[in-house]
Amino acid sequence: MRNLLVVLSGPSGVGKGTIAKKLVEKESDFALSISCTTRKARRGEVDGREYFFLSKESFLEKKENNGFLEYSEHFENYYGTPKDFVMQKLGEKDVILEIDVNGGLNVKKNFPEAVLIMIAPPSREEVKRRLIKRNTESLEKIELRLKRMDFELEKQSEYDYTVVNDDLNKTVDKIIEIIKKEKNR
Ligand code: ADP
Ligand code: 5GP
Repeated sequence: MRNLLVVLSGPSGVGKGTIAKKLVEKESDFALSISCTTRKARRGEVDGREYFFLSKESFLEKKENNGFLEYSEHFENYYGTPKDFVMQKLGEKDVILEIDVNGGLNVKKNFPEAVLIMIAPPSREEVKRRLIKRNTESLEKIELRLKRMDFELEKQSEYDYTVVNDDLNKTVDKIIEIIKKEKNR
């Protein structure tokens, strides 16, 4: 059976990171892709685990060398999917990418067989509550992320699936079901 490239997108704070972590804990056939970013590591984040944290210069050099499957700029920082890392992992497992909608749609252009899954929130208020509870950004930055939410969700129709992240365990099970179904197509 071929290994799948699965993209999870959705507004900041919707729960993508939490879901992705649970997916790889539950299924040993899944691997997480690690993106490169120029943003600073948050408390508890480790280089090479959550992200490869690069300087702007190193990021731009990798971009010039065609080293990204896709990249984009958010909240004044660059984020990109490293091509070499994803290709190596795809040789072993299904690979899960946690990236924004534009990134997801760009991946689909290069990899039409990629499966795009939009994670939608139960409500806008709930995302704000989750971001405040996560306590990793200032209120000002949270407002910036909430402003982008409608833009992310507008692209839902171009995604293959939408899953509402209400109950976390149910969300994870639904995604596993989607991946298994797609693998058997
Ligand atoms: P994202 O990666 O999309 O920005 P996170 O995974 O960091 O979002 O989740 C944001 C916050 O919401 C975290 O504190 C996380 O524990 C919480 N969270 C995630 N999924 C759920 C859920 N289904 N119900 C309640 N809280 C959740
Ligand atoms: P955060 O700073 O909260 O970790 O991520 C901010 C945004 O960047 C999120 O919407 C996340 O999905 C997106 N992102 C993370 N990695 C990548 C990537 O490799 N490419 C793109 N296009 N977006 C990414």
